[in-house]
Amino acid sequence: MTFKAEIDLLGRNKTELKSICLAMGFQPFKGEILFRWLQEGVLDYASMTNLSRRERELLAETYPLLAPRIIQEQQSADGATVKLLLDFGRSDKEKQPVMIELVIMLYERQNSRSRHTLCISTQAGCAMGCAFCATGLSGLSRNLSAGEIVAEVIMGQKWLHEHKLGDVTNLVFMGMGEPFANYDAVMQSLAILNDPAGLNIGQRRMTISTCGLTDAIKCFADAETEIGLAISLHAPNDALRSQLMPVNRRYPIKELLAACDYYTSKTHRRISYEYALLKDVNDGRQQAEELAQLLAHRLAHVNLIPVNFVSETGFLPSPAEVINEFAAILNRRGVETTVREKRGTDIDGACGQLRRHQSNGGGK
Ligand code: SAH
Ligand code: SF4
Repeated sequence: MTFKAEIDLLGRNKTELKSICLAMGFQPFKGEILFRWLQEGVLDYASMTNLSRRERELLAETYPLLAPRIIQEQQSADGATVKLLLDFGRSDKEKQPVMIELVIMLYERQNSRSRHTLCISTQAGCAMGCAFCATGLSGLSRNLSAGEIVAEVIMGQKWLHEHKLGDVTNLVFMGMGEPFANYDAVMQSLAILNDPAGLNIGQRRMTISTCGLTDAIKCFADAETEIGLAISLHAPNDALRSQLMPVNRRYPIKELLAACDYYTSKTHRRISYEYALLKDVNDGRQQAEELAQLLAHRLAHVNLIPVNFVSETGFLPSPAEVINEFAAILNRRGVETTVREKRGTDIDGACGQLRRHQSNGGGK
């Protein structure tokens, strides 16, 4: 029999669960009870002891629950990064099971406190086709539902609890897929994950990364949340960016930065610009100067990423001294810049690689 995870209810907020309960003839507050159980990761109605037997039976008939499966687990040699390959299975209409990667970055330090950050996927694959990215190589299979996105966090939380490591503290939407190409499901999942009756993850502890879909950036600005925004820039001019990131042909840098300015004017929040350094492609001094010019007068922080080597793309990582020089130029020009710590490169560290290796008979 084909396996298909059944987690639709995880993607429903309290109000929706109350309506579902009401429609089944239960008192609406039962929806709140159901929400709490589901967000605690209890995917078995029999354990929901404060619902009546009849209610549990009715729910089980109407809304079956079945967790995704962890089909592979890798831990980096230093123990700081764990990658889970999750299988959501497939419906009768789908040819392939949907598999996505969930990365757990353990013990990151923030203000002397230790945090556990999950790197969340929002799509199975991605349609954006960035030249350096493993996820982009095989195109988009489909969007993940809000329930599937919430399920990733719940699976990550369970993993942490099983290893007695505490709770998920931070979320970055930097896994597989383009979050703003699946805007509604992503926003719905964020609201659920932020709910104090559920996982209660603060908006300031969440970051969405986008390749630059400007209409969605404006919508996101209008939503006036406190969720952080990261922009994958990777090139300081349109000619190069359009080569590396086809999305730039539709939304060139000027338009992208105008949307970023709109976001800043609405939220007063600083934006992170991600820039993966590709050897002899975008890592020259002149390019650092050009980037500085773009960002010097903006509320910006640059995150330089030592690129993860993906053999199929042909790009190589820049040497450490080139990265440091690039960072020094930006800092000198008044653009605050950090070099991202490289994690989990020994475990197909870049998102998309593990899934690719698995489905090639073996992906960023
Ligand atoms: N689609 C979104 C979010 C997922 S990608 C986006 O593009 O922003 C998360 C980050 O990983 C992005 O900054 C992306 O550009 C970067 N990335 C992709 N491939 C990479 C690679 N091979 N090495 C390092 N970073 C990579
Ligand atoms: Fe998609 Fe982001 Fe990869 Fe580009 S970098 S292909 S937008 S996942």
